[in-house]
Amino acid sequence: MSSAETPTGRSVLVTGGNRGIGLAIAQAMAAAGHRVTVTHRSGEPPAGLSGVICDVTDPASVDAAFKEVEEKQGPVEVLVSNAGITDDTLLLRMNEDTFTRVLDANLTGSYRVAKRAASGMLRKRWGRMIFISSVVGLSGGAGQANYSSSKAGLVGLARSIARELGSRNITANVIAPGFIDTDMTRALPDARRDEIRKQVPAGRYGDTADIAAAAVFLASDGAGYITGAVLPVDGGLGMGH
Ligand code: NDP
Repeated sequence: MSSAETPTGRSVLVTGGNRGIGLAIAQAMAAAGHRVTVTHRSGEPPAGLSGVICDVTDPASVDAAFKEVEEKQGPVEVLVSNAGITDDTLLLRMNEDTFTRVLDANLTGSYRVAKRAASGMLRKRWGRMIFISSVVGLSGGAGQANYSSSKAGLVGLARSIARELGSRNITANVIAPGFIDTDMTRALPDARRDEIRKQVPAGRYGDTADIAAAAVFLASDGAGYITGAVLPVDGGLGMGH
């Protein structure tokens, strides 16, 4: 077993970990030997995982969730900022609320959880922040000015954190998934899904496990010298960006 695979039993928090990519990341982190909590906005946490209620658009809710995680499994050592939404429409039809609502959930939400996680990581002199961006954060996407802006913003956020906290053994990296088979992309019409698939060199949609594997690697001791990186996991869709 290489050092990248050695279970280190870190305290991991995955936002939006009740379904889709976040759930796959949480399950893979648990399988790698970490103590994992997911955030969910309502109902019960997914089977076999610890959960805390959290809405990343609400600073008080973020703070309460972190306090609960700290009591349950210790300060967050690995933060996966995954919670995100889309609200697609063409620029001329996109009103300010549609723009700012997506920015608030995807980018400001990530700032909120990163800031809250940073103090514990600083005390520990160890931390991993992983931000789930998107291929369209780098390439842009028609009808996605709000979403693409929020996902591009995550690159600036992560790289600033990498510069600020790098000397304290805290890394901040971005994963840029391509099209992954989840509720988010299942909402697209079949014709659009086929069109997208044809553009992917790998010839298929990604699986949530493809993103989870990258996240587990970035959280590992073996990835300690990787920071400020944008790791595309997109079947080759974004090559050149
Ligand atoms: P899903 O729509 O399947 O899941 C989104 C998750 O985010 C849910 O757990 C949802 O919680 C949570 N969430 C949304 N808003 C908030 C909020 N305000 N506070 C807390 N949690 C919230 O999406 P995916 O799994 O597909 O996407 C996960 C991440 O990956 C997102 O950031 C997305 O932008 C990104 N991504 C996805 C791609 C894809 O092809 N699927 C491609 C590139 C990036 P709830 O269940 O309560 O709604």
